[in-house]
Amino acid sequence: MLLVQKFGGSSVADAEKIKRVAGIIADNYCDGNDVVVVLSAQGDTTDDLLEKAAEINPNPSKRELDVLLSTGEQISVALMSMALEKMGMPVVSLTGWQVPVSTNFQHGNARIRSVSTERLRQELDRRRIVIVTGFQGISGTGEITTLGRGGSDTSAVAVAAALHADKCQIYTDVDGVYTADPRKVEGARRLDEITYDEMMELASLGAQVLHNRSVEMAKRYGVELEVLSSYERKPGTQVKEVVKNVEQMKISGIAKDHNVARIAVVGVKDEPGVAFKVFRSLANAKINVDIILQSIDRNGLNDISFTVAEDELDKAFEILKGRRDHIGYSDLFASKNVAKVSIVGAGMLSSSGIAATMFEALSDAKINIQMISTSEIKVSVLLDESCADKAVQVIHNKFFN
Ligand code: ADP
Ligand code: ASP
Ligand code: MG
Repeated sequence: MLLVQKFGGSSVADAEKIKRVAGIIADNYCDGNDVVVVLSAQGDTTDDLLEKAAEINPNPSKRELDVLLSTGEQISVALMSMALEKMGMPVVSLTGWQVPVSTNFQHGNARIRSVSTERLRQELDRRRIVIVTGFQGISGTGEITTLGRGGSDTSAVAVAAALHADKCQIYTDVDGVYTADPRKVEGARRLDEITYDEMMELASLGAQVLHNRSVEMAKRYGVELEVLSSYERKPGTQVKEVVKNVEQMKISGIAKDHNVARIAVVGVKDEPGVAFKVFRSLANAKINVDIILQSIDRNGLNDISFTVAEDELDKAFEILKGRRDHIGYSDLFASKNVAKVSIVGAGMLSSSGIAATMFEALSDAKINIQMISTSEIKVSVLLDESCADKAVQVIHNKFFN
């Protein structure tokens, strides 16, 4: 089998952990598998590098930030290769530009265009274990790029897709995907299987266990994905196209996203073109809008509220402030004290009352809902940030106890 195995930051945080992971890799190799390993930076390295940058220049160019951030993963692959060398294993480490992993030009959030397999194949043909840096690539003009926080999962899936690997295993510090963050939610249950679609929603809605683009890519290329523990040797959660829902669970998970802010555009004219003016201004600045709520007409006026990512709030606010005359509103409000809590499940397609059950849990806990948005397989609510953890717990209790 050709295995692509990705180990996250916590799994390679120190020398002991690197040695243990090297043992897992060596065992898989000695079982006769071809093994490509993708690694993240050790522990909090990426955060530490961001801090180091900020001490010197609070506003560095995105190019130089990528040069800096990509070093974390380079340290990991070198150390892991040394650990395997010490065990007598044939091994070679490769950075993103050595593979190369080609990306677009978007520093800090680059998209992978292709992964070249020539070098990887050469090394595998020589029966070497190949250790590749996650999170990084190289643009068409030879610049180092990074894929966005948590992006090593996507590197791993891209390598697996390019090599037509038999399996892509994401080793992390929990033993699979749970119905909610097992570190925060009491009674969270481990799932044996989850569909790509559900996992994609959970990841996009705040479950950090997988980078959302990694799941999207796995679905597109039919990569078999497994999330498993780097501490215990046992099967994890399979992410795949179709699953058998033996427990007949109505929802498969709950996620929380703190990176949300709300903007209210108050007192706009109730006439065609107003929403267009608001959202076109934001779209032109490439700001993504998520939940949108428009109030009903009162005396020819209404309000439009919506959410954006918290780190884009200031930019969005400034743009709308500058367009006040063009849009024609009486007030503009912004709040960062909100969070989005979502339930996800393919079961929603076939059973009714799931949203009502979620709202009942919130009502019982006296938690106020500010906004609601739904799609085929998810329901999201916007809440005061201070209630979000409790909300996840009470919703979880309602569905799973
Ligand atoms: P890595 O460093 O291995 O990439 P991450 O910290 O990115 O690890 O992701 C693993 C973490 O994701 C877990 O420690 C867990 O707290 C969190 N998490 C959030 N939601 C879930 C979920 N539904 N299932 C499992 N883990 C989750
Ligand atoms: N090291 C990067 C980060 O911390 C990428 C990753 O861990 O997936 O975001
Ligand atoms: Mg991660």
